[in-house]
Amino acid sequence: MNDDSAFPTEVKFFSGEEIPLELHKVRVVQKLHLRPVEERHRAMEAAGYNTFLLHTRDLFLDMLTDSGTNAMSDQQIGAMMVADDAYAGSASFARMQDAIRDVLGMKYVLPVHQGRAAENVISKTFIKAGDVVPMNYHFTTTKAHIDINGGKVLEIYTDEALKIKSAHPFKGNLDLKKLEAVIAEYGPARIPYVRMEASTNLIGGQPFSMQNLRDVRAMTRQHGIMLVLDVSLVGENIWFIKQREPEFKNASIRDILLEFCSLSDLIYFSSRKVSSTRGGAIATNRQDLFNRMKDLVPLYEGFLTYGGMSVREIEAMAVGLRETIDDTIISQSPSFIKYLINDLDSSGLPVVTPAGGLGAHIDARGFLPHVPQTEYPAGALAAAFYIASGVRGMERGTISSVRDENGNDILADVELLRLAMPRRVFTLSQVKYVADRLKWLYANRELIGGLKFVDEPKVLRFFLGRLTATSDWPAKLVAKFRRDFGESL
Ligand SMILES: *Cc1c(COP(=O)(O)O)cnc(C)c1O
Repeated sequence: MNDDSAFPTEVKFFSGEEIPLELHKVRVVQKLHLRPVEERHRAMEAAGYNTFLLHTRDLFLDMLTDSGTNAMSDQQIGAMMVADDAYAGSASFARMQDAIRDVLGMKYVLPVHQGRAAENVISKTFIKAGDVVPMNYHFTTTKAHIDINGGKVLEIYTDEALKIKSAHPFKGNLDLKKLEAVIAEYGPARIPYVRMEASTNLIGGQPFSMQNLRDVRAMTRQHGIMLVLDVSLVGENIWFIKQREPEFKNASIRDILLEFCSLSDLIYFSSRKVSSTRGGAIATNRQDLFNRMKDLVPLYEGFLTYGGMSVREIEAMAVGLRETIDDTIISQSPSFIKYLINDLDSSGLPVVTPAGGLGAHIDARGFLPHVPQTEYPAGALAAAFYIASGVRGMERGTISSVRDENGNDILADVELLRLAMPRRVFTLSQVKYVADRLKWLYANRELIGGLKFVDEPKVLRFFLGRLTATSDWPAKLVAKFRRDFGESL
């Protein structure tokens, strides 16, 4: 592992082509299933046109999420074998604490079983009824925990954040003018903390800059407001700072990460993302904050030295956190995503730009302008893409939204198909396959129709809801696939 050399992560070919090269080798593999298109159609039908209800046995590439699906290193697997099974005072926890101190610069550590458990402890400790929590963007579980404790999320992102086409390097920035206005309106007493999410999950892993964080820090400090960093996706945010913020061009990842975390009072993370394991943690250098939170950990999670995690996960996490300062590791997803987005963008497909750090996002309204939002273009595109490719993506649009009190859909701001890029899981030929099948689908986009619910759960309907096609468009798509690809899968 190398923490401060600038490895080239893009290699120029003799032909002049620039591609992201895999700087790791595959040592454990899992067989994939690329079913014929007719079987994919049947599987999608059986799953109620909801990609959450597909099974691994019917998937070629699973791009649903990066949560708990990342590849671990040999060092991580090795560390799991020497874990210390002690209920209290485990040596594994001491190693995790050391890793958090060395890599994230935080001394006091509370282990939790995953990211949302950290949010439970933080929200319960600091939020009281009537409070507001300003942030650059919300995450689903974050918002739920703030709501349930009587608080309200105020999203104060910049005008760039939701633009589909943008060249802005830091769409995850917090809008400082809006923060000033929020502090003036509510007063510091009703703002338990400002939260910055690095990088922003729901808007595609878009990062914020170090300068933005410094400015937020200065303003919160001036008003005595705590600053909380959600560092679940921090590796990619740090990588983008090095790539896109000139001041940090020659800085080491280690130094950028340490400065970044030092600008906050408290950090927390989901290890399902950062460190490529499971679990999570809260960390701080302020003993007063640690003391206020610590009693909730044995109550909700487990003793203070395991927090609901297996000691094997804790060992893997300690190693995974140290690997977060390796350029070749944190650059892998962003460079593959950039490759995919650039390819699709230059072929005229409607994609979100610039490329973020979590996955590729396809603009379903641009892709399917003939499908009304009430027929769920993002859900229809996710279903059509699975039929065309065996690749599973996630709907991020109106299906993920809710209905109003009259039973009408609240239409989402954006209709996106998200194709997550788990860390170091796929190869470039697989990414090329994704691009190829998307281009085929785009050329045949007028064949794709809408969806309607047949079984709609009252809460979180996107997880378990079942839908059907509004016409026989899936069968027509299958027929066209056969005409164009012959016997090919
Ligand atoms: C995934 C995620 C969470 C929640 O973590 P879980 O481990 O899924 O509970 C919180 N914040 C961000 C930014 C995330 O990406």
